[in-house]
Amino acid sequence: MVNLDVLAIAAHPDDIEITCGGLLINMSKQGRKTGALDLTRGEMGTFGTQADRDSEAIAAGELMGLSYRNNLSISDSAVAYNQENKLKIAQVIRDTKAELLILPHWEQRHPDHLACTKLGYDASFLAGLKKIDLNGEPHRPRKIIYISYSRTADFSFLVDISESFEQKCEAVRAYKSQFENRENAKRIFQPGLDVFEYMEIKAKFLGQIAGVKFAESYFIKESILIDDPQNMPIASV
Ligand SMILES: [Zn+2]
Repeated sequence: MVNLDVLAIAAHPDDIEITCGGLLINMSKQGRKTGALDLTRGEMGTFGTQADRDSEAIAAGELMGLSYRNNLSISDSAVAYNQENKLKIAQVIRDTKAELLILPHWEQRHPDHLACTKLGYDASFLAGLKKIDLNGEPHRPRKIIYISYSRTADFSFLVDISESFEQKCEAVRAYKSQFENRENAKRIFQPGLDVFEYMEIKAKFLGQIAGVKFAESYFIKESILIDDPQNMPIASV
């Protein structure tokens, strides 16, 4: 089992690529061990068979340079916030010794996304309990960051993904059953926009705020501690 620097957890195959794919690609390029945990296999989606989606997720993971990908096969559109699911995720956290966790933002429209972020946080706590019914040594991620999903304001920090944006799109394109037919794709994601238009508009908007070509936005619940404000990026005036 690989020891991961970063583990992203999401409800459905392709959520990770679309939301935090740029950061995962950046970290992989820096030599970090990156991983993805999908809670469901997306079987409630309109397009594609389960076998299609399983093989697409593997291909997308390779395009992002992931060292690890796993799927807990929880029922799609029925991700329950319960102890059983917390322990399944906690076992993965222990197995991979993930140091940094990426979870969905804590306010969500889709109930699976909401359950995912709550489960991920609780699993991080439970994974550190010595007496809990899990295999392996106690382990907790040191840091949790939250990817914004549909939110476009009040984020805690931005990540420059200018160098990885094309690779991120390639990874999303691996989900052929979902996005190859762009007319179908417009029906899945957002009325009138396919996922590639959506990703480009959002990443450019966020990039423009940061003075770079493309960016992703993240949230944290703690403060950021710095040594020297004089070196902070993004000019004020
Ligand atoms: Zn999703």
